[in-house]
Amino acid sequence: DGGNMDVLTGRITREVYFDPSKLIGKDGKVLASTVDETKQAEMLYKPVKVVQELASEKIVLVRDEFDQVHRLTSEGLLTVKAEAKEGVPDILDLNDFSEMSLLESLRSRYARDEVYTFVGPILISINPYKWNHALYSESAMIHHHTQAKEHLAPHLFKVADASYVAFINDGSKLPANQSIIISGESGAGKTEAMKIIMQYLARITHYRVAATPDSTSDSLTGASAAILGAAASGTTAAAAPHLEVGELEKKVLSTNPFLESFGNAKTLMNDNSSRFGKYVKIQFGATGRIVGAEITNYLLEKTRIVRQAEGERNFHIFYQIIRGGDKDLLADLCLDEKDGTGAFRYLTHGHCTDIAGKSDADDFKVTMECMTAIGLDARLQRTMLELVAAVLHLGNVSFQDAGEGGSVPEPSTQRHLELAARFLNLDAGEMQKTFCSKQITTRKDETVVKPNDAAEAADKRDTLAKTVYSCVFNWLVRRLNMTIAADKCWGFMGVLDIYGFEAFEHNSFEQLLINFANETLQNQFNRHIFEMEQEDYEREGIDWSYVSFNDNQPCLALLDSRYYREAGAPEGEAAGGAVAATGGKTGASCLFNILDDVKSVGGGPRKADARFLSALHTTFAGKSEAYVRPRLHSDVCFGVKHYAGLVLYEVDGFVERNVENLHQNVRALALSSTDPLIRDDILLDVKLFEERSHRKKGGAGAGPGSAGRGGKGGGSRLREASLSSQFRSSLATLVETLDMTTPRYVRCVKPNHEKLSGHFDSKEILRQLRYAGMMEAIRIRQQGYALREPHSVMYKQFARLVPGCASLPDLVEKLSRMLNVDAREWQMGVSKVFMRKSMAEKLARLLELRVKF
Ligand code: ATP
Ligand code: MG
Repeated sequence: DGGNMDVLTGRITREVYFDPSKLIGKDGKVLASTVDETKQAEMLYKPVKVVQELASEKIVLVRDEFDQVHRLTSEGLLTVKAEAKEGVPDILDLNDFSEMSLLESLRSRYARDEVYTFVGPILISINPYKWNHALYSESAMIHHHTQAKEHLAPHLFKVADASYVAFINDGSKLPANQSIIISGESGAGKTEAMKIIMQYLARITHYRVAATPDSTSDSLTGASAAILGAAASGTTAAAAPHLEVGELEKKVLSTNPFLESFGNAKTLMNDNSSRFGKYVKIQFGATGRIVGAEITNYLLEKTRIVRQAEGERNFHIFYQIIRGGDKDLLADLCLDEKDGTGAFRYLTHGHCTDIAGKSDADDFKVTMECMTAIGLDARLQRTMLELVAAVLHLGNVSFQDAGEGGSVPEPSTQRHLELAARFLNLDAGEMQKTFCSKQITTRKDETVVKPNDAAEAADKRDTLAKTVYSCVFNWLVRRLNMTIAADKCWGFMGVLDIYGFEAFEHNSFEQLLINFANETLQNQFNRHIFEMEQEDYEREGIDWSYVSFNDNQPCLALLDSRYYREAGAPEGEAAGGAVAATGGKTGASCLFNILDDVKSVGGGPRKADARFLSALHTTFAGKSEAYVRPRLHSDVCFGVKHYAGLVLYEVDGFVERNVENLHQNVRALALSSTDPLIRDDILLDVKLFEERSHRKKGGAGAGPGSAGRGGKGGGSRLREASLSSQFRSSLATLVETLDMTTPRYVRCVKPNHEKLSGHFDSKEILRQLRYAGMMEAIRIRQQGYALREPHSVMYKQFARLVPGCASLPDLVEKLSRMLNVDAREWQMGVSKVFMRKSMAEKLARLLELRVKF
């Protein structure tokens, strides 16, 4: 209609949020009742644009992201205070700390290229997608290290320095270990942040020690005094225009490009996406100097080795070798195909072999230099390259059906099978046999051999390729640790770069593991934030005994029995931690145990997945508050209520991926390599797996998960070796380590999907902040005393509203009576008045009224 046309072409005045309960129809009546609650929650904080304000009628017309125009009463417009609009360096300084004020602050700062913002102990980093080199220059490093911290703007250097100073300057003879936990979704800037932090530490620790030659003694107090002295005098900054980096530090730094070559790939989200998680412990001596580093890696994305989505690539190293290797090397590895990378099936699934602005050939040089720097000798380097070549050749082996359900390699690809066998030091005949047939153990414990069809053979080929590559990756990490990890160190600072929460349209086993990791870290985060809150209360002399918060324990207990807690059992300080430490109740059923126990036999993987799903529904539907049996598609999906929201997982492939090593004879084949370096060292994971399963079952019979038999006890063997159980235990170790440290958090945020600089997509950012657990941090604060006003501010604001107040306590007393709030709504702290949310809201309304009248 005419009115709307006008509105649609109307000039947009500003971007705001609106309260969906204040929506009205054309008749001026409130629409709220027609919009259900979840829909309302979805609409809240979605920015809309004001297109018209009819001041006289108190009606506002706004346009949403879908160009729909809504009418609301003017109270429906949510506004934030000027200080939030302006943007503050630490959002906890805002008195009205809310989702909206957080978003507004971030928005205005980002517009000024201020990409870092603190929320108390958490640094939010919004990917600028353009390099501001001055921000990370050596003089910026010196500046951060030597200036008084309170004058410094939020920065990764500030976090790194605070960690370092806390570590070195604890004042005790014991190290105060630190950690920096970086999270965020793909492309948000985690790995760059980690590198920036490591660069800073490598330089600043060197600089400090070099600048103070007399502090080389092993006494901590000497080192602390030196660092404080340098900071206080401020003279050293001018004296050192260039920061030296020591040899060891160079080695530590060179692990980054090296691991990126093997573990990073181009994805649709990020041209240099890390396809593994890592925790780097930087080790220090008592002088505060770096003495080594130790890397732990998590869950390499193996499927990428054999398959890539459209527009994505395999791991960088494959392209590097083919494009950067010299003639002789390529001839030796038989990678000198005319079509280059296009000649290898494992590199062409995504129909994308190039990355704009990147030279794989140059990167290969860097990779090889790093290998040398790290101390891999020529023989090891060669073996590693041969194994990478073996994977490529495996990919080029094709199979054709050969009647009676059997298969053989296509003759034209036989050459690749032989090459792969050669580089793995395996017998080509055995390899073919392993691919093209399977051993089945009958009920009577007899082994019979059955043929594999072409598809099954290809599947085994892929299994071998994945096994080899992931073993090479793990081996490289072990080698790195052998050369750069110190035997003894005084203390450490750990940096964690790990994949953030994932919720896609289709979610599978990998998402569940990743989200479980995030759930675990969220629990650690909640506990820490809660403790910090308690400290603030204690400092102010506030009784916090009845402040509590809901943690994510129900979700963790659903996934992992480690976190199980008897109903009605005392919650402990903040739940999860204490429970995790004691191991919870291991006998309780949890999702991962059920998954481990599902027999993978009888009717193939599909049936196993279905059995898993129905076991979940029976065990948890209606019993676990974190479990959801979806109304639609409950035959293929289950839902988990994560701290960041509900995620539906499709069970297809769960059982098989969990016990990824279903092919026992592929393992046996790999271990028949005649090269001891490959067999005993590089394939260590396979070897350990074999040993463990043999020990468990007392020798005879087929390996765990072998097809054909699903006798009792199979479950416990699988449980020990399954991917989820390995992941669970590595996470438990990680949490144990983190709990030994003082954590700091960096939450990386991707401002938009288009990788554009300067474009702040509120909806996307808000979603990520929720995934990052920021709203939990807000909630923890709001469940306690949401508003903390310094005494003087409080008095100034309200004394004029309540005549005749003698003192601040008197004022607050009278105010609370006036507003009819409970005495438990507020407490008088040493320097601030602490108020609960309800009282804070009433006060805000009171102020508003006074201003209006
Ligand atoms: P993934 O989970 O996929 O590994 P990530 O969070 O590690 O993602 P990064 O690889 O660190 O993401 O960053 C992605 C890209 O964003 C970088 O390649 C770079 O182009 C850009 N970027 C990240 N941080 C910065 C920064 N501080 N300044 C400028 N550009 C940056
Ligand atoms: Mg990364």
